[in-house]
Amino acid sequence: MNLPTGFITELESVLGKTDTQKYLSLFDDQPYRGISINRLKTMPEKLLPLLSFKTEKSLFYSDGYYITSEADGIGNSVLHHAGAYYVQEPSAGSAAALLEIEKGDHVLDLCAAPGGKSSQIASLLGNTGLLWSNEVVRNRANILLSNFERMGISRGVVSCCRPEILCDRLSGYFDKVLVDAPCSGEGMFRKDHQAVSEWSREHVIACANRQLSILMSAAKCVREGGILVYSTCTFSPEENEETAGKFLEACPEFEALAITDNFGRKTKYENSVRITPLEKGEGHFAARFRKRGNSERSGNKTVSRQKFNKDTEKIITEFLDDVFIKKPELVLYVSGNKLYLLPEELPPTEGLGVIRAGVLAGEILKKRIEPAHALFGAFNKESFRRSLDLGINDTRVNEFLHGMEINCEGDNGYTAVAVEGIPLGFGKCSGGRLKNKYPKGLRIP
Ligand code: SAM
Repeated sequence: MNLPTGFITELESVLGKTDTQKYLSLFDDQPYRGISINRLKTMPEKLLPLLSFKTEKSLFYSDGYYITSEADGIGNSVLHHAGAYYVQEPSAGSAAALLEIEKGDHVLDLCAAPGGKSSQIASLLGNTGLLWSNEVVRNRANILLSNFERMGISRGVVSCCRPEILCDRLSGYFDKVLVDAPCSGEGMFRKDHQAVSEWSREHVIACANRQLSILMSAAKCVREGGILVYSTCTFSPEENEETAGKFLEACPEFEALAITDNFGRKTKYENSVRITPLEKGEGHFAARFRKRGNSERSGNKTVSRQKFNKDTEKIITEFLDDVFIKKPELVLYVSGNKLYLLPEELPPTEGLGVIRAGVLAGEILKKRIEPAHALFGAFNKESFRRSLDLGINDTRVNEFLHGMEINCEGDNGYTAVAVEGIPLGFGKCSGGRLKNKYPKGLRIP
């Protein structure tokens, strides 16, 4: 593979000549692959023995694992469909870990699609607080939403909004903010040789300018005392430590926070870390800042409850009683003919390009509610009145993912379908058969 000489010169400036040669000698080796486990759905000790591939613990994230054997078709595996894990290059797991998420935090993932880091954040929040995930490119925001639903994130928002508008309106609202910025992607080069052809000095500089501007927008929505993590998947100093340095100059209300974690290689600033294949990751950079002072986050209002007319109230109550053993502790919200379950702490969302807040529960028809697929992924199996829990080797799992009708022991009605206790979707059970409601777009062809 011929790499641009400008890229090699740049690499020498950060790694030195010897390590650059080592990097080049590793260029055609197998890239690192990994997964991060989603604790909203399962636990490592339960999931790992069920996987069809071998794993080793990641150096960068406590719930991250290297894939160390063949894992073809991993995206079509049932545990992936069920959101038990997210396929994530191991070093990419480092940035979310640096946010030091605490239960109850309000977290913004500003450049979030396709959603690997959002998935980690949601797993760390564990159905507390709020995760707002934003993506400025609309079709990527849709992919983000579909991953949100797969991972079962209920206390979240997905939006498609320009960072300057979003962060201005949500000023001081977040305890933790992640800017995983668009970059020249040098850390992708071993995996994606095509990306190499897009490299140029001009692109690196353009990325650096854009990154600084995104960071400066992000600064506004961090509360005093809150943490901002900046990350990229590139090696370039302009896009990384120099952008971080310029940010600190432009925003003196932030201070650098040391990174003491034992991974990667140090940069010339103690608040940042670089990971290359020499440190057993494809390539990542992360820097960490804290907004000086200490204040409560702003806008801590709870969402106002709607008043429904008698008919709507009755339909909703019957629906929730039918589907759930215990009603979810989320706020009911009707928009058009859709029923949503919202996190209580939701800030005003108007004009912020929100494409989903909370969980889509179902569609209100004349006399009943047709449940949405997302509802069954967002709660544990024990929440549902009826569930069909299949073992991983049960042939019905595969049939269900293919959209087929399957045998169903149990009462008639809407039934959660789970694999090894992890809800995957739902169907309607009638006379021992389950009519498949797994969405057509998600089925295995
Ligand atoms: N955090 C994501 C994850 O873990 O899956 C990866 C994010 S990717 C590195 C950067 C994202 O920033 C892309 O989805 C890209 O579309 C988005 N982006 C592009 N231009 C942007 C801009 N001007 N402001 C904010 N985000 C932008």
